[in-house]
Amino acid sequence: MSELILFWHRRDLRIVDNVGLAEARRVSPKVVGVFCFDSNLLKQEDTAPARVTYMIGCLQELALRYAQAGTRLLILKDEPSRGIPALAAALNAKAVYWNLDVEPYSRKRDSLVSDALKQKGIAARQFWDQLLHSPEEIYAGSKQPYTVYTPFWKNWNSKPKPQPVEALQSVEGLTEKELEAALAAGAGDLPTAKDLGFAWDNPLVLQPGETAALKKLQEFCSSAIYEYKQERNLPAKDGTSGLSAALKFGAVGIRTVWAASVNALEKSGNEEARASVQTWQQELAWREFYQHAMYHFPELAAGAYRQPFKNFPWQNREDYFQAWCEGKTGYPIVDAAMRQMNQTGWMHNRCRMIVASFLTKDLIINWQWGEKYFMQKLIDGDLSANNGGWQWSASSGMDAKPLRIFNPATQAEKFDPKGEYIRRWLPELAGVETKALLSGKILPLERQRLGYPAPIVEHNQQQRYFKELYQQQKFFES
Ligand SMILES: Cc1cc2nc3c(=O)[nH]c(=O)nc-3n(C[C@H](O)[C@H](O)[C@H](O)COP(=O)(O)OP(=O)(O)OC[C@H]3O[C@@H](n4cnc5c(N)ncnc54)[C@H](O)[C@@H]3O)c2cc1C
Repeated sequence: MSELILFWHRRDLRIVDNVGLAEARRVSPKVVGVFCFDSNLLKQEDTAPARVTYMIGCLQELALRYAQAGTRLLILKDEPSRGIPALAAALNAKAVYWNLDVEPYSRKRDSLVSDALKQKGIAARQFWDQLLHSPEEIYAGSKQPYTVYTPFWKNWNSKPKPQPVEALQSVEGLTEKELEAALAAGAGDLPTAKDLGFAWDNPLVLQPGETAALKKLQEFCSSAIYEYKQERNLPAKDGTSGLSAALKFGAVGIRTVWAASVNALEKSGNEEARASVQTWQQELAWREFYQHAMYHFPELAAGAYRQPFKNFPWQNREDYFQAWCEGKTGYPIVDAAMRQMNQTGWMHNRCRMIVASFLTKDLIINWQWGEKYFMQKLIDGDLSANNGGWQWSASSGMDAKPLRIFNPATQAEKFDPKGEYIRRWLPELAGVETKALLSGKILPLERQRLGYPAPIVEHNQQQRYFKELYQQQKFFES
């Protein structure tokens, strides 16, 4: 009988182009998948119902894919350091394989699982899968991690990229006896999001699973990618890939994504189209930049990177925060964006930058409050990308530009010139004339009539105040 390898899925919910899984299959014809609902992660305060629902959708398809390949996806609900070794021992597995992650919690958890497996005499093998280049592959020189994106991108882009790996197929399944042992070790049915205490009743804006992710990738890479450079900043348009949740949960392999972008680059008809494809590739590199940063500087997860922001005197007014969360600040572009996220679990990137700048520079609220709120809502919420985006917007992170402040009116005029996005998410303002809608200069009486709040702060005044606070922090620093 073949020796069994247990493959532990985490954020790689697919059987196609999965490095660790392909290696497991190469080594043995008998591979069984497992996913463990980690009780530590589920009880965290910042788990978004839309994200859990998306993840479970991916798992449903993954279970089906395993069945088609002739084997099973087992489901555990436990602490991984207890559940995974216990299941591996019950199945008499030769080894447990998994793909690595950069997040501080995952790394600690993985080393606990490795130790527990070792104690039972079971091998643990780990692989890099979710990145084109692992954090140990790209250094600024003499093992110095990059802290600025542009030189990182140049180095990263110059390296040859790995090709997609083979999909799992025709695997030996579990015997009746093995299945019984797995059930006795705690394996059970796939729960629903509701079973886990997460209610998401709205439709999912991003379809979960491998099939939907691949379809989205193909559609994007055959059309919208060629206009990405211009369209990606317009929140009223469907100009971006919509792959963030698929990339977060690994419903699609990054090598497959890269190969599709290279294919699109080769088919580019003109310089403009080429530049658009390359701009999209740069976004994929931002994703890797932030993951490398999290790996090398795990302290980013706990606070500011730059000194002036380590003890910044944030004002942290609860009433302002509440208004921001609910999309009731009186600034139309900010409120439209927050309502998009509250209703759908997704927000356009341009708007993520606008609302993050507004929270930190206009409301003078600690960016970590916003970071947490985003994680409570986003379908694609991801520690590295979210933390990176927030620290970039707050000016507390790794960014060559020391202070960046967005003017909400200017942003709206530039990126939503007809007010389509604002009107979509703030239907009460549908009849307001475009100029007033974008500038936010809506007369008090009209606001009252429409039931739309007055601006809670004045942008220019707050901007000056924020700059003063910042200069003081810089002064104390030197
Ligand atoms: C404050 C703030 C918070 C953010 N939080 C998250 C988050 O929790 N999860 C997340 O995936 N992205 C986050 N982003 C980045 C970005 O907004 C989303 O990745 C993007 O909007 C997703 O849409 P898309 O898939 O259509 O992206 P596309 O424009 O099609 O980009 C393709 C892929 O590249 C990656 N990517 C694009 N932009 C960035 C970026 N700036 N940083 C890192 N990766 C990027 C994503 O994986 C994305 O799917 C955040 C940005 C900001 C400013």
